[in-house]
Amino acid sequence: MSKKQFKSESKRLLDLMINSIYTHKEIFLRELISNASDAIDKLCFISLTDDKVGLSRSDFKINIASDRDSRILTIEDNGIGMDKDDLDKNLGTIASSGSYRFKQEMEKNDDVDIIGQFGVGFYSAFMVADKVEVLTKKYGADSAYKWTSTGADGYTVVEAEKDSVGTIVTLHIKEDTENEHYSEFLEQYRISELIKKYSDYIRYPIIMDMTRSKVKEGTENSEKPEYETVTEAETLNSMVPIWQRPRKDVSDEEYEKFYHEKFSAFDKPAKIITTSVEGVVTYKALLYIPSKAPFDYYTKEFKKGLQLYSSGVLIMDNCEELLPDHFRFVRGVVDSQDFSLNISREVLQHDHQLKTIATALEKKIKNELSSLLKKDRETYESFYNEFARQLKYGIVSDYGMHKDNLKDLLMFNSSNSDKLTTLSEYVDRMTEEQKYIYFATGESVTGISKLPQAEQVLSKGFEILYCTQDIDEFTLQSLMSYKDKQFRNIDSDDLGIEPEDNGDEVENSDEVLKFVRDTLGDRVSEVVASKKLVSHPVCMTAKGGVSFEMEKYFNAMQPEAGMKAQRCLELNMNHDAVKAMAELIGEDDDKARKYAEIFYNQALLIAGLQIENPSDYADLVCSLM
Ligand code: ADP
Repeated sequence: MSKKQFKSESKRLLDLMINSIYTHKEIFLRELISNASDAIDKLCFISLTDDKVGLSRSDFKINIASDRDSRILTIEDNGIGMDKDDLDKNLGTIASSGSYRFKQEMEKNDDVDIIGQFGVGFYSAFMVADKVEVLTKKYGADSAYKWTSTGADGYTVVEAEKDSVGTIVTLHIKEDTENEHYSEFLEQYRISELIKKYSDYIRYPIIMDMTRSKVKEGTENSEKPEYETVTEAETLNSMVPIWQRPRKDVSDEEYEKFYHEKFSAFDKPAKIITTSVEGVVTYKALLYIPSKAPFDYYTKEFKKGLQLYSSGVLIMDNCEELLPDHFRFVRGVVDSQDFSLNISREVLQHDHQLKTIATALEKKIKNELSSLLKKDRETYESFYNEFARQLKYGIVSDYGMHKDNLKDLLMFNSSNSDKLTTLSEYVDRMTEEQKYIYFATGESVTGISKLPQAEQVLSKGFEILYCTQDIDEFTLQSLMSYKDKQFRNIDSDDLGIEPEDNGDEVENSDEVLKFVRDTLGDRVSEVVASKKLVSHPVCMTAKGGVSFEMEKYFNAMQPEAGMKAQRCLELNMNHDAVKAMAELIGEDDDKARKYAEIFYNQALLIAGLQIENPSDYADLVCSLM
């Protein structure tokens, strides 16, 4: 019998578990029960179409037993079980990409419950046990196997005897130490308390022998009733799924607890949505809008979808069809008796009732978000800070078909205040004189607010939306207008603002522009007299459809494409520095060319673009000092 090593990542994690000073050690029980329940879900599902399982819905259960003398706690289920490969795969490796992050979190944070969210639940057994055995037989297999491990030094798997399908997890509970009282996990009352606390909603009975003192039969009515100690198997959980209970009977804490356990989340949900519909389709749904994005949210690992139940039986774990992409952050369950229990995934995808539910849920989510925005702005903003990008993708995607649905949920920074604003609030603040909704793009709010081309718009008292996410510009382009007001990038030529005429321009304007153009060659596509600069001498704006932000965005995605926005250098013909250059032309062209170079590089810097050769530029500036 050879001992196998855990994969290195798993090994490190195990070490951490074993030596953990984690205060929530008790959650190990919840994790093992939830694994048992998942395993039963799987077999229960198979039993719907396969008579050979030989069990009906009411036969499925989880048995807990504890023995104080031998310090053994067992958790037994009659679920799907595991074969040899499963044991290696599931209990020998930690596949989850989250394990490294888990480790970091665990090292720095001892008091939040973070085990569930990283898919490392089984290993939590090692927080309380110095040896763990898993005796298991998979449905359909001939042999049973026993997996044994005393921790980080590896594990063994041997063939074993087990008649019925399912799994028995045996924990050899650690001896008590000065600081840790592991024996509590062998006490009936403590165990039953933990089950009530964490696993009450589990839909299969969790059964344990409970010893209670009872009045002896026949002595109830006598003056001196006699007592006896009786040990009986009791179901410790109430089994009613939380989404089946009326909202008024469930506290927010219970809903949150369910959210944390079921969806491995750790944030406080921004909004809990319950809905119960009777009609063409009858269903109940319990949905959560997170306030924090899971760490893998913006990666391929993240799976959208709601859990789909039919009369309390899980028929699909991640039903993607129930959620549109733009609301893929929503977690929750839908339970409808209208689905046949053995509906296949393929059929379900095209199911008319499913579509009806999905449409209704989308509307519901949208309305709940709108009302959150109106009634609890702070919570909405904390949600929005995490998922803005998702909503914006929603507007841009599918040829803009969702934009009307989503546009009122958008928020932006703006020149109005340091708070986020909605588009509707922006439009309400617009004066009659203001034609467009102005926006500017850049990496940071401070950077954008200092752009020279913002000055004119701001000096008119017009507000500018500050777009700092790469997707922002696409979003506004896709929207085109809001309440009949068009969006306008402050880079544009036509800002709908009459330039102030201060009559003090350089006289040889055309000559100056040509001179600068000749000096810079094809580094710029145009040099023009600016209509929007006020106190700054120059700025660089993008001509044509591609802005500098898009240039940066596309080049980050596809560097080889070499996407380049057309650079247009705008000169402020009223500015003293430009005038100084104008006077040099014809007198000292060399020096005038140096001025032109400096203007060009300044404009690049202000626009957040790289200057071609920083040290040449520095030398150039010095040569004029
Ligand atoms: P998670 O449950 O998040 O996937 P765990 O570490 O708790 O992570 O469990 C790893 C895997 O081991 C499970 O996904 C499941 O496939 C398998 N497993 C654990 N316990 C059982 C059980 N009682 N019956 C069948 N399979 C189990």
